[in-house]
Amino acid sequence: MKTKFPHKKIKTTKSQKLFLRAMRLIPGGVNSPSRAFKTVGRTPIFIKKGSGSFVWDEDRNKFIDYNCSNGSLLLGHANPTIIKAVRKAAASGTSYDASTKLEVQMAKIITKLVPSVEMVRFVNSGTEAAMTALRLARAFTGKNKIIKFEGCDHGHADAFLVNAATENNLIGVPASDGVPDSIAADTLIAQFNNINSVRNLFEKYPDDIAAVIMEPVATSMGCIPPLPGFLESVRTLCTLNHSLLIFDEVTTGFRIDLGSAQGEYNINPDITILGKTIGGGLPIGAYGGKQNIMELMAPSGSVYQAGTFSGNPLSLAAGYQTLRILSTNKMIYKHLEDCAEQLEDGIRDILEQADIPHIINRVGSMFTVFFTDSQVTDYRSALNSDTELYKQFFNALLNEGIYFPPSQLGTAFLSTAHTDAIIEKTLRAFRRAVNLYL
Ligand code: PMP
Repeated sequence: MKTKFPHKKIKTTKSQKLFLRAMRLIPGGVNSPSRAFKTVGRTPIFIKKGSGSFVWDEDRNKFIDYNCSNGSLLLGHANPTIIKAVRKAAASGTSYDASTKLEVQMAKIITKLVPSVEMVRFVNSGTEAAMTALRLARAFTGKNKIIKFEGCDHGHADAFLVNAATENNLIGVPASDGVPDSIAADTLIAQFNNINSVRNLFEKYPDDIAAVIMEPVATSMGCIPPLPGFLESVRTLCTLNHSLLIFDEVTTGFRIDLGSAQGEYNINPDITILGKTIGGGLPIGAYGGKQNIMELMAPSGSVYQAGTFSGNPLSLAAGYQTLRILSTNKMIYKHLEDCAEQLEDGIRDILEQADIPHIINRVGSMFTVFFTDSQVTDYRSALNSDTELYKQFFNALLNEGIYFPPSQLGTAFLSTAHTDAIIEKTLRAFRRAVNLYL
């Protein structure tokens, strides 16, 4: 690894000053921990604006953005159609806490595109949707325990902030202060892509497991696709044990394909959690599933969930236009795949030429460059990556105008605004970054 000092270290004086002020006013200076850039060893950039595939920070540095608001901007920043829809909706009022026609239209388009979702409820975040999906699964099955996979993120409800007690004892213990032991104990931890770890838990607790919750493609321990047969086997175990299968498609929903990951892999979950793309860049979450399950929700059933801003007209206006654009432009997913493949191949060539060990995992427009030479199939293998090298890589890219995920365990995202020309520009910057700093 070279130790050369970056030749064109970007100036981030204004961001640094803002961060100092923020640290006095907001815990850790941020409203969501990964924004603090702790794992990449620098202070964060403060974003001033975004357009298409670019963001600008407060110091007027311009970056090609591969975070895309953590995967929520499939059509890029400030897409003109989305902005027009949001402006129009805002001019008619921003919230009513009453029903709107748009909620019905949005529910219609989602249930049409994702057949396992017969009914859907809109909320304000992925966290809220995952938390409620769990309550619903417990009510439907009359059981309390859940299985979650180590490294999969489902937001910050207590039941998900849980680690395995030890490598062999997979009963959950709190992963955050403030989470009661009693709640963590109902979360059982399995290993992604390891069906035996799921089977063992079902054998140990045959009558207690309400649901298995999982990302069908993991995106929160880096991008990790399911191995062939894994999702099918989880589905079978859930069915055999009268447990529900919950797919958390907050990130993969409508990003992988119009039918989401479940369409791509041809698996029918019982409950699906959505977010990100369905809000077109505005705050949203949703959960949906078979009618007989969903009708347990109040007021038709006895499982409670409510929200003043649920089905907010601005988020739905942006989301509806997004889904309309995605479902009427058949070439969008091919464009995303082609650009992402071009980028993946280019990055691999550059890293191979530089003799830097790496594994690139990619599913459609989502990918992670892991600095390791062994396959990454679960959280533990993701942790084998060289995080010091990633830190250097992230900073080198930032110096060259590329904004990658600020963590080795992050996933990079493309949008429809990432054209061939943008990919070529990225690869030139990438080559400079590797040659100069790594
Ligand atoms: N599920 C997944 C797969 C996610 O990536 C996230 C966000 N990191 C969530 C749920 C939580 O969503 P939100 O941030 O909207 O609460």
